Amino acid sequence: MNRKKSSLRAKKPGLFPAGKAVRITVSGVVQGVGFRPFLYRLADRFGYRGWVRNIGSGVRIHLESEKRTDFGPFLRALEEDKPPLVRIEGLDLQSAAYESCSGFKIRKSEGGERFVFISPDIATCRACQREIGDPEERRHRYPFTNCTDCGPRYTIVRSLPYDRPKTTMAGFKMCPDCRREYEDPADRRYHAQPIACPVCGPWVTLKETRNGKEIRGGIEAAADLIRKGKILAVKGLGGFHLVCDPRRPGAVQRLRIIKERRRKPLALMARDIAIIERYAYVSPAERKALHSANRPIVLLRKKRDIRGVSPHLDEIGFMLPYTPLHYLLLEKIGLIVATSSNPKDAPIAKDENEGVGRLCDCILTHNRPIQTRADDSVLKLAGDGPLFLRRARGYVPYPQRVPAHLQAPEHVLALGGELKDTVSVYKNGYVITSQFLGDLDEYQNVRYFEETIAHLERMFDVRPRVVVSDLHPHFHTTGYAQSLGLPHFQVQHHFAHLLAVMLEHQIPDGKKVLGVTFDGYGYGQDGGAWGGEFLLSDYSSCTRIAHFKPVPLPGGDLAAREPWRMALAYLREAFGEKIPALPSFEKVNGKTRDLVMKMMASGINSPLTSSCGRLFDAVSHLAGLAPLEMEFEAEAPLRLEAVSRSHSRTFYSFELIADREPWQLSFAATIREIVRDMAGKPCPEKIGPAFHRTLAEAIALVSERVRRAYGTDSVALAGGVFLNRTLLTLTSRILQRRGFEVLRPRQYSPNDESISLGQVAYALVRLKSRR
Ligand SMILES: [Zn+2]
Ligand SMILES: [Zn+2]
Repeated sequence: MNRKKSSLRAKKPGLFPAGKAVRITVSGVVQGVGFRPFLYRLADRFGYRGWVRNIGSGVRIHLESEKRTDFGPFLRALEEDKPPLVRIEGLDLQSAAYESCSGFKIRKSEGGERFVFISPDIATCRACQREIGDPEERRHRYPFTNCTDCGPRYTIVRSLPYDRPKTTMAGFKMCPDCRREYEDPADRRYHAQPIACPVCGPWVTLKETRNGKEIRGGIEAAADLIRKGKILAVKGLGGFHLVCDPRRPGAVQRLRIIKERRRKPLALMARDIAIIERYAYVSPAERKALHSANRPIVLLRKKRDIRGVSPHLDEIGFMLPYTPLHYLLLEKIGLIVATSSNPKDAPIAKDENEGVGRLCDCILTHNRPIQTRADDSVLKLAGDGPLFLRRARGYVPYPQRVPAHLQAPEHVLALGGELKDTVSVYKNGYVITSQFLGDLDEYQNVRYFEETIAHLERMFDVRPRVVVSDLHPHFHTTGYAQSLGLPHFQVQHHFAHLLAVMLEHQIPDGKKVLGVTFDGYGYGQDGGAWGGEFLLSDYSSCTRIAHFKPVPLPGGDLAAREPWRMALAYLREAFGEKIPALPSFEKVNGKTRDLVMKMMASGINSPLTSSCGRLFDAVSHLAGLAPLEMEFEAEAPLRLEAVSRSHSRTFYSFELIADREPWQLSFAATIREIVRDMAGKPCPEKIGPAFHRTLAEAIALVSERVRRAYGTDSVALAGGVFLNRTLLTLTSRILQRRGFEVLRPRQYSPNDESISLGQVAYALVRLKSRR
């Protein structure tokens, strides 16, 4: 047996089988993505006969030729010309017996074990766009046009295998024209499960929310209403957007009141790149990401501010249309605010009856049900790759392969952390991580969490033998894990962050990596509030080598919302009880400030934390940038980052205290020097870049000490702090210049969304050690 399980690109032509017949088994995202009709056309091009069929784990192909032949060129064409949605994960080649086939046939699917990957939802392809715009076509201006290369997938699938009756299109009976296209292997809609047309498919309705009355004119009338300043809920792929005209500050203001978001940035959808470029700088890599079939929101550098859209920040999020409905809506209006339609902190609404009407003036809806909610994905480009802030629509449920040494026969369920949660399931060598589910301290998100677990288990036929959660005793996920009655593993938060990066980069067994995991909060091995951590680790063990010197969190959770409290904690660390007067405290109530100082002095409600996020809060406040109270996570650090785009040559002093283990990094000297800088005239533009450089230098110093002591030269950067593009690129550059290999998340977010992925790795190690 000639078994080859890696990418085709890696193979030399000599390794391809020559003979009269060959059997190829392909696994990956290969069903429901136009792969079989593509093979049909490809076989025709090479003059081969044979057949193809879907099997439980992918697709099996039999190819034969009358004369002995080299199948190499066919395999290369398969790799190079495959349809855009196809993702080959594994490929198995065997020589086969000659069957004297006539022609090339697409055979009926074979049953077998259900573990087929399903494609994410994919933006409308060019061919479909052209059809919508062509008055001669029967799908002219039809908002649900799709084909095998594009359209809804993950959000409409109820269960697998992926067939129309198992999607939310089940209720729509194909008309004869659609049926003909669906059954013709030469047609680009061959077996396109969501196939639809104006005769047989879904349709849109525009309604007034006040009285439920239908408004005539559909999408065009909706665009007019937006232009007039109305707020609309528009049903898309994974849920409703709330939409308004960003050039009407009054409408944006109203939307903010409705969403209870005063300052949190709102995303925009633009008809084309030319419109985006009026407001933001777009690099070639950013342009490519915007145009990609995944169609994420891409955070771009502002060129021109749009009042109220992303106040106090220098980035603005744009996306391009990704369904025909969006294309038609944006035809005349060009630019809209498109933010997820949820009351504050609740999951994105997928049905009208989820309270959408209370949030808007009118609803543009349609009658194709949404099975699975999914927010828009959000990313920015950093260095040479994407940096995910949110991984959801367009990326989920792409699978992550697990290195061979970790693979186990058992299925695993991983529940993630608490905030920005995702769940992951493991089966047959792959992890599937859910879309972003939000914060589980909100009741409605807990239901979303439970509904997602049930859906993933049903869809991929996962029967978990173990469950894994965070170490935190009071997280909802921990309680949920305990309620399942399964063997239950718990893994420390920052170790899970690091494991996620190791898994993504397929780090080999036994290799040690220094994990620099910086975030706001994670429950420590000792029960403490961790967040500025240096972990030396392989898959099975983890040592806390160094951490930020702990400072008090005066007021506990309040300190995470009010940056001035952290500034006070750091000032006290740097100057003792006699702290200097600073302009940034002018807005803080003097009595409250004195009370907070007393709290720290007496240790009341002031647990210690080694959090890096809190240090950012403190410095942002000292630089005069932080709001008194943060409205959303990392608001103060984001403002500091906004003035720190240029890489600084200078940095502040800091101290590595290495006379005890774990080592401690003290930033007291940094704070003293920042105060000195602020004493003259406020200079956030100097402090921001220098502070970023200070952190990068501190990381480099610890990395070098660890390399000397333990010989490790791989450094992984993980945790939400590394969403900071300046810190990430600067640290990477310094480390690489000093000879380190730098690993960072590319397919997953560095924030808590990746915790469930890392937890899977931990569970697999534990399962292995039991055997
Ligand atoms: Zn298409
Ligand atoms: Zn039809």
